Amino acid sequence: MDKFYQLSKEETRKKVNGQQEPLTDQQVREHQEKYGKNELVEGKKKSTFQIFLEQYKDFLVIILIAAAIVSGFLGDAESAIVILVVITMNAILGTVQTVKAEQSLSSLKKLSGPTAKVLRNGNVIQIPSVELTVGDEVMLEAGDYVPADGRILQNASLKIDESALTGESLGVEKSDEVISGEVPLGDQTNMVFSGSFVTYGRGSFLVTGIGMETEVGKIATLLKTTSEKRTPLQINLDQFGQKLSIIILIFCGILFGINVFRGDSIGDAFLFAVALAVAAIPEALSSIVTIVLSFGTQKMAKEHAIIRKLQAVEGLGSVSIICSDKTGTLTQNKMTVEDYYVNEKRIPAAEIDIQKKEQRQLLDYSILCNDSTNVDGMEIGDPTETALINIGTRLGVGTMDVREAYPRKTEIPFDSDRKLMSTVNEMDGERVMITKGAVDVLLNRMAYIQKGDGVCPITDADKAAIEAQNQEFSRGGLRVLAFAYKKMEDERDLCLEDENDLIFLGLISMMDPPRVESADAVAECIRAGIKPIMITGDHKVTAAAIAKRIGILKDESEACEGAEIDNLSDEELKDFVEHVSVYARVSPEHKIRIVRAWQEKGNIVSMTGDGVNDAPALKQADIGVAMGITGSEVSKDAASMVLTDDNFATIIKAVENGRNVYKNIKGSIQFLLSGNFGAILAVLYASIAGLPVPFAPVHLLFINLLTDSLPAIALGLEPHTKDVMNEKPRPMNESILTKDFLIKIATEGLSIGVTTMIAFLIGFKGGDAVLASTMAFGTLCTARLVHGFNCKSDRPVLFKKKMWNNIYLIGAFLLGLVLITSVLMIPALHSVFKVSTLTIQQLLIVYGLAAANLPIIQLLKCFRKK
Ligand code: ATP
Repeated sequence: MDKFYQLSKEETRKKVNGQQEPLTDQQVREHQEKYGKNELVEGKKKSTFQIFLEQYKDFLVIILIAAAIVSGFLGDAESAIVILVVITMNAILGTVQTVKAEQSLSSLKKLSGPTAKVLRNGNVIQIPSVELTVGDEVMLEAGDYVPADGRILQNASLKIDESALTGESLGVEKSDEVISGEVPLGDQTNMVFSGSFVTYGRGSFLVTGIGMETEVGKIATLLKTTSEKRTPLQINLDQFGQKLSIIILIFCGILFGINVFRGDSIGDAFLFAVALAVAAIPEALSSIVTIVLSFGTQKMAKEHAIIRKLQAVEGLGSVSIICSDKTGTLTQNKMTVEDYYVNEKRIPAAEIDIQKKEQRQLLDYSILCNDSTNVDGMEIGDPTETALINIGTRLGVGTMDVREAYPRKTEIPFDSDRKLMSTVNEMDGERVMITKGAVDVLLNRMAYIQKGDGVCPITDADKAAIEAQNQEFSRGGLRVLAFAYKKMEDERDLCLEDENDLIFLGLISMMDPPRVESADAVAECIRAGIKPIMITGDHKVTAAAIAKRIGILKDESEACEGAEIDNLSDEELKDFVEHVSVYARVSPEHKIRIVRAWQEKGNIVSMTGDGVNDAPALKQADIGVAMGITGSEVSKDAASMVLTDDNFATIIKAVENGRNVYKNIKGSIQFLLSGNFGAILAVLYASIAGLPVPFAPVHLLFINLLTDSLPAIALGLEPHTKDVMNEKPRPMNESILTKDFLIKIATEGLSIGVTTMIAFLIGFKGGDAVLASTMAFGTLCTARLVHGFNCKSDRPVLFKKKMWNNIYLIGAFLLGLVLITSVLMIPALHSVFKVSTLTIQQLLIVYGLAAANLPIIQLLKCFRKK
């Protein structure tokens, strides 16, 4: 085993790549072939056959198999075969659904997989972490997951959280020095390990181990497949299903007793009781939820919202507070420099003159204290910093030329708590520390000011003038950075105390216009009963100006600074948040307190975040939203949803999708439960009225396992509507089975039950029980198919275009109709399905009674609406 921490950088390169230069494309391919993919091998996935077998584990299916065996013994081979065929078809349907849902979830996982920044062909490019190979040079910055094991090449204050490996939760400070002797993992400070993440600083490393050959790979050996988690809705439905099943089983038991008492054979009575139980128990509820959720997530991924936790889809429908970052989410994050301010003068970008010494100095410093690059138009880095180098390019000053002339010696990276960044550059034989950052923070650290050629102590009047200029910029919605510097006496690394006693050089203002769609999205959000809140690290005045433009804020009094909430107790904060819609100068800790305050007031809160420090707030929020483009890997990992376009409007679209998914699930449940209820009512009536049993077991199985499943799924795929955004958010703890909903199911079930019994009674007029049962079966089956259209919406849709907008439902209806008509009309099937031949007139009665459920239930909807 190589101990890379004992080797110098050069020795490591030699050992791993056999050369000092970075790998060529050809070598990368060879290494990828030799070492395989950079991934941990997952536990074995279930095969399709296993999934198929699992369909037989269901309690009801086991009872059905027992029933088939019983009928076989009783000499009713036909029933036994029909039951087995129906069960098998049902299992196939179940397998297809499960496999599809799994496929869509795993493709979702791939979409949100981690990425790494690697040096290939002299350029830094971003690639999926799985494609990394041994010998690659990987860049790291705060918020990145370390994608493989490796030896550190560059280290700028890197601190790494290795708690996943060592259990030690304090960040480990890294170095690039050789370590002698043998040391444990936690002390190998010049190495980084896969699975840990960067909490601070920047750096790079040479990959020495990937996939199962990494330290985590060795611990994990075989990752178990993540156990599937059930969503609150599924749990709710499972519990409901269990209770309902018990009631139904008791009911069927009683019915079994009555039928035996009436003289039925025990076998027949048993078979009927079983079939009724199967017909009445809504066993498909929670699998329908899975299918509809997975369909919903696919649609959302296409619309730039990737769901990482399935619960989020349901949760989105209940969100009542959306806290959003400003930069990049509400604004375009396409920054352009608007003004320089040097020598006490404001200079618009178009008038910058680099022949003037101080203006050139400000330009050079803004290029040096900056990590962005722009190679052939490909911008890499923070847009704020990109704007600073772009103006140089426009003025004919090459970024790389400046950086090569004044090389960087050391640095303290930017972090959003400190709101500053510093570098030390060698300039004409001297070491100069350049610091840039938020104006208010830097103002307190300045002791001198540069005016013309000279440097003099800064006075209160100078500070007031700078502050006034800052306010003027900010009121126009501009983002402002201050620049300062000082000479360093000795050659050493920087510490935080060095960022004091600085010389003020100037300000740069930048424009970051709101996204065009932000204002509309905010308006829609408010209409949907959701409060939008802007949370930003930027200045209060800038933030308020932008918030006003897009409609988040009406009055300046609704804006506050993060520091204002520091003095409030949690209890006071709960009242305070009510009146605030813009929080400026916020640190990640403030974010958590704001989320909690709203949650304690009973709200479901969504919060966006991008930095490594945002992860706790994202976890605390009910729906943590990370930024796909600018977000750190750590924030993405903590979030339940990732926006691939970083856009606020996408969150609102996701809420709309979430609400629609929930509505569609409700439609499927309504369809299943009301239909089942109709069947039970018919059986109950017949048994009380002393009539023959209206259905043969095979009828109930046919309806329940075949003709019912497809419309239920189709209803889950109803096209989404905008209407859902006119409602208030759904209370999170509201059970899906509200009183209103249950009443609806009961009345609709009653309609189906009554029409079915009328058909039965018409058929029974001449005393022919088989004819009566045939007509009842035909009516129930067709009525349920028709009823699918009733479940499309809470409102009447009969004469509207909406009636025909779900192609799946129409398909399911037609297929079901063909099936039931074939059973009724093809003589060869009659004995298997225990039906007798219908005349055309009788068939029309069946269709007519079934179709009657459409106007009746639509009329009920009109009344209910009134
Ligand atoms: P949001 O929180 O809405 O994304 P933001 O980008 O302004 O807004 P931060 O990235 O936390 O939030 O930045 C906070 C402040 O730090 C900024 O207002 C700016 O003054 C300063 N700042 C931002 N980027 C840099 C940088 N690269 N170097 C130095 N200072 C910066």
